[in-house]
Amino acid sequence: MNNYRLFDTHTHFDVPEFDHDRELLAHQAKAVGVECLVLIGFLHSRFQDLIRTQHFINQLDQAPKSYLAPGLHPFYIEQHKKEYLQDLESILSREDCVAVGEIGLDTFLKEHKQPEIFKKQKEFFAAQIELAQQFDKPILLHIRKSHADVLTVLKQHKYQYGGIAHAFSGGIEEAKAFVKLGFKIGVTGQITNPNAKKLHQVVQALGSEHLVLETDCPDMTPLCCQSSHEHRTRNTPANLPYVLDGLAESLQLSKEKLALQLWKNSLQALHLSS
Ligand SMILES: [Zn+2]
Repeated sequence: MNNYRLFDTHTHFDVPEFDHDRELLAHQAKAVGVECLVLIGFLHSRFQDLIRTQHFINQLDQAPKSYLAPGLHPFYIEQHKKEYLQDLESILSREDCVAVGEIGLDTFLKEHKQPEIFKKQKEFFAAQIELAQQFDKPILLHIRKSHADVLTVLKQHKYQYGGIAHAFSGGIEEAKAFVKLGFKIGVTGQITNPNAKKLHQVVQALGSEHLVLETDCPDMTPLCCQSSHEHRTRNTPANLPYVLDGLAESLQLSKEKLALQLWKNSLQALHLSS
């Protein structure tokens, strides 16, 4: 039994890859100290499964407490329709949601840089920021190659509820700008890779008080848990202690001390009290 409590602030534990063993993995996660996890939205077609998964996990004994953060992901922008925003609004009013996510901008693919596609990303991002403001919720940000644009949109909206910049891939100055706007920086299993130099520099420059942990499962598998170079190994919430190990090593802190700080940060970012 690990001597700490961990919060997995970003999971896709609702996806079909977990349908056959979700209960077992939830027990395994709890057994290694994962007390809470967030289920994040990405596609409208998955909203019902996302909600069902939260209800399923929360009726299990010896499983992490599961929180809901519905939203429409910028990478899947072509699939989003305007009316989906109304469904999102109705979920936010009906269900017990902790945040809106994952939302933001993503110009990793060159198709997404095309003006009309990028404009649609910005419209959906803006509309979901407004929903978060309407419901007083933090937001969980997905940002790839668009840190300056995301910061601009947040400032335009005078957005003040904070949240988490998930799987952070920006530099030190960008990270500090998000912290200044009230955000925590989400650290994935990439921190277990000594070659992820930029990420190590960012976490070391910021210090533990601005960071939170996430698995981003089923992706971002920590290096130690990868069983093959050819095939992607499924990541699970039970791997979160490896992310803690990697971060503790990078920051030269004891795991227990770091975990306590990260737990407080997670509650703060998600406006939870205990
Ligand atoms: Zn995600």
